[in-house]
Amino acid sequence: MSEQYAYLRGGFLPLNDATISVRTHAFLYGTAVFEGIKAYWLPEAGRMGVFRMAEHYKRLLQSAHILGLQPTLTAEQMGDLTVDLIKRNQCQGATYIRPIIYKSDLRIGPILTVDGTQDDFCLFTVPMDGYLDVEKGIHVGVSSWRRLDDNAIPARAKVNGAYVNTALAKTDGHKSGFADMIVLTNQGHVAEGSAMNLFLVRDGQLVTSAITENILEGITRSTIAELAEKELGIKTISRPIDRTELYIADEAFFVGTATEVAPIVKIEHRTVGDGNVGSITQKLKDLYSKATHGLLPKYGDWITQV
Ligand code: PMP
Repeated sequence: MSEQYAYLRGGFLPLNDATISVRTHAFLYGTAVFEGIKAYWLPEAGRMGVFRMAEHYKRLLQSAHILGLQPTLTAEQMGDLTVDLIKRNQCQGATYIRPIIYKSDLRIGPILTVDGTQDDFCLFTVPMDGYLDVEKGIHVGVSSWRRLDDNAIPARAKVNGAYVNTALAKTDGHKSGFADMIVLTNQGHVAEGSAMNLFLVRDGQLVTSAITENILEGITRSTIAELAEKELGIKTISRPIDRTELYIADEAFFVGTATEVAPIVKIEHRTVGDGNVGSITQKLKDLYSKATHGLLPKYGDWITQV
């Protein structure tokens, strides 16, 4: 692999030199917001393409706004840096891109408030193929850790510190033998996966948790709903989901930028449907893969070519 670079403190640095101080506010308190963006090799164009970049940077700025961070760059500037970094790093296959707006202030003292302190932007890439081993479908659990409430740490904002909740759910889930976990709200409704959104198929329709159920407003979630409607004529209903609906769903799958489409074939001790990857799930998985690789020309404007 060629020498890898990251963007930090206003410039590109060799990845190993892109380090931050132990006194950094974001490191001490989790005061940062981030995105996970994915770029793919586009076989027909013979170049890389970043999937839904504008939507990711829009959400990053919304997360920063919720947290009260002062972004130093616009969405367009962050997009240009992303394209530049993919070129510098000579990425030629599936690549995960991690931009972070973080509180970079080094002062220690009574500055727990995010106002009047310094913010910075950093960006790096890592090669990433599949995130979960999904071909035969995965076996997931329902976590006893509840998702964060909008009035505690808003799930709608992709706040770094909030991923302690993901770590708790996922670590305990792995120790119990599950590939990943479904997390409930404080009311006991289904929120989403540890770091992904969830869809169920019930009676031929797609059901996903409403955005008021303490979920991240996922970009893959809306991509899948659009592909389902336009390509398969299947509507998505967005509403609160009871836990027991998980057990009687015909099909279930996780979606997310890193996760892509991950079929779920077993939830706790119950199979989903007949225990095989569902047919609607498989169709959406194939459509999503085509869309991300630039093989659905109709959705070409989802891709920023590098
Ligand atoms: N929920 C959470 C908590 C996540 O971390 C992610 C991954 N970003 C998702 C859902 C899926 O969001 P997206 O499709 O925008 O990647």
